Amino acid sequence: MCGIVGCIGKVNAKDYLLYGLETLDYRGYDSAGIAYLDSSKLELEIVKTIGPVKALIEKLNKPVESHLGIGHTRWATHGVPSIPNAHPVQSMNKKVTLVHNGVIENFQELKDSLIAKGYSFNGQTDSEVIASLIEDKLKANLDVLYVLSEIMKMLHGSFACSIIINGDNDHIYVIKRSSPLLVAKGKGFHLLASDALPLIKYANEVFDLPDDTISLVEKDSFRLFDVNLQPLQIKFTQRDPSLISRDLNGYPHYMIKEIEEIESVVRRLMVSYHPEDKFLFDEKLLKTINDSDNIIFIACGTSYHASLIGARYFRHIGKNASVFIASEWAFYPQIMGKKPFVIMLSQSGETADLIHCLKVAREHDLRMLLVTNVQGSSLERAADFSIILNAGSEISVASTKAYAAQVTALALLTNALDNRHNIIRDLNECCAVISEVRTSSKPKIEAMAEKLKNSRDIYFLGRGYDYDLSLEASLKLKEISYIHSEAIPGGELKHGPIALIDTGTPVIVFVTDDVTASSMRNNIQEIKARGAEVFVVSTEKLSLPGDTIVVRDYRRYLSSVAISSIAFYFAYYVSLKKGLNVDKPRNLAKAVTVE
Ligand code: GLU
Repeated sequence: MCGIVGCIGKVNAKDYLLYGLETLDYRGYDSAGIAYLDSSKLELEIVKTIGPVKALIEKLNKPVESHLGIGHTRWATHGVPSIPNAHPVQSMNKKVTLVHNGVIENFQELKDSLIAKGYSFNGQTDSEVIASLIEDKLKANLDVLYVLSEIMKMLHGSFACSIIINGDNDHIYVIKRSSPLLVAKGKGFHLLASDALPLIKYANEVFDLPDDTISLVEKDSFRLFDVNLQPLQIKFTQRDPSLISRDLNGYPHYMIKEIEEIESVVRRLMVSYHPEDKFLFDEKLLKTINDSDNIIFIACGTSYHASLIGARYFRHIGKNASVFIASEWAFYPQIMGKKPFVIMLSQSGETADLIHCLKVAREHDLRMLLVTNVQGSSLERAADFSIILNAGSEISVASTKAYAAQVTALALLTNALDNRHNIIRDLNECCAVISEVRTSSKPKIEAMAEKLKNSRDIYFLGRGYDYDLSLEASLKLKEISYIHSEAIPGGELKHGPIALIDTGTPVIVFVTDDVTASSMRNNIQEIKARGAEVFVVSTEKLSLPGDTIVVRDYRRYLSSVAISSIAFYFAYYVSLKKGLNVDKPRNLAKAVTVE
């Protein structure tokens, strides 16, 4: 995953690189480093630290005069987090310095060939192999761009690399395939970054680098080539800084800020896709879906949970729809029907497992829609159609508002297919619930978190749409509290999981679905009889005395929009009370750009 930055020209390199890395450290935070050309000595300095970017900032607490540099915050894939493995990495004779995001699948074979030629390596990363490969080819006095085009043909896997060649102080070279990288142009400088967040403070003309390209970045010019060094067109576009804000707006963590933004995100989607009594989806998209006899949803993690709901919606209007985990479908693609159509969900639009699926889908001539929060992302550019969530940047690693946005967008899309306009009334009801939870339910949720923060296991129970929500509630809790958790469909209890229920076992039960409410009440009796400590979240109409949180009524199909915030606040407070890093849970990163 990791985050990459780079800069050249009239900008203070240390300031931009550190700001950029701090902005990107949601992408990886096990080590960080920068390489910059010291303007007075004209020498490349490299500084690296273990841990999050903060440590690097502390270490570099001195003025630095530099106008050329690259930086990296790492999410290790090859080799433990350590100084030798931290980026920037160098080739054996230090001719080449680079930062890399991605995975080189054939690195061992390439490394062996270099070792046979007498090369040695400082660390274990696949990235260091790229650096020495470039150095090796440069020995023949070949042009750097030519060498990079040759190297790209040798590398299998994904990479976005920013490269500095020792002695060549006027360029940064970039090679890119499958991992994201953007360039921004300012007056007398160019900047690089893995996403638009760091760029926008300095320059708002931004260009997403396409795959299989080589870039030559200078202070006043930017040139792009394909792998055969044919020049390519570049189109910088203006980015709206308001959608790319990193401001905490007074909140202590991004996660709570983002939970509190759910209502406005839902409202923005309503206005974007259903302004003034009509739906605003691409007519061709609606026709393609209507003509299709089989909808294949593909996603991972939280997006997979949103897809489960999307598929329910589609089946509800009579369409065949199934949901697959991307990393499974990529290897065992299941394509049914005469006119299949793929819907992929990826918040970042960079999810490596989905990029793999996209390639497989292309091999089968499948058309596809991407539902994403990031316009211009790799998947968005490659898909036939896209729905942009416009939820604003989500910095907290655990997704909250993007999940609610995904479900909202799928609900709007399904209603557009079926030409039903009650969705706006229904979403307005949800907004009222979200606002009620935000203004009045937090103390109760916090008290529940206080009570359960030291639990070994916490179970979530629901049926129908409440089960879909339970899956996401359970994942969120695991991600940021490290408490073992499972979501169980109420009816499945007796088929096994009830064996886990013992005196004091905490179970959070959602009872907001009128179709299944009475069965859920039976389940509650069954687990209470086995000693479970039960916390019920219900709607007014279905509530009973003693329920922990009761919210106003809404249509059951929108559970994950209306009350997912309850689950998110709960996970947030548990994590907070355990003293954990809410926004940056261990071992995770935001955009999963490695398979
Ligand atoms: N494969 C590289 C490493 O392990 C880069 C990892 C990443 O993209 O996060 O250092």
